[in-house]
Amino acid sequence: MGSRIKEFIDNTKLFGEVITLLPVSFMNYGAHILAKAFSEKVRYGKNLEKILEKESSKLGLDEKNVHVKFGPTFLDTAEVEKIPNGNYEILLSENYQDAFTLRHELYHIYKKHFEDKSPSVTRLFLRESQSTLYGLFRIKI
Ligand SMILES: [Zn+2]
Repeated sequence: MGSRIKEFIDNTKLFGEVITLLPVSFMNYGAHILAKAFSEKVRYGKNLEKILEKESSKLGLDEKNVHVKFGPTFLDTAEVEKIPNGNYEILLSENYQDAFTLRHELYHIYKKHFEDKSPSVTRLFLRESQSTLYGLFRIKI
């Protein structure tokens, strides 16, 4: 393939990624503003245990395998990762300690989204949309 053509394809791909990621960020940000208005706040202790148990069981997950921590994340939102022995860790930053975000992250676990280390932008778009839809309305797609 000619280098001009390759360069053109690379640039087009990058442009495609940027215009795909923008609505994802926009959608998640918008959904979060919407969710914050009616979503239950998650607090350490009994409240967290109760919400985690309820939301995990709705997805058939064992809440004993899900460890929720509060603290800053890379983008100051929320993160989930697989940790040893079949456990998962969800990290919620200060502005994302609510039931909507917890549901969103649990749905990533349920769908095993984050196990894909370098997903395509299309997959990233799909999995964020799926988790946001579940977080807001409990719709499983
Ligand atoms: Zn997400």
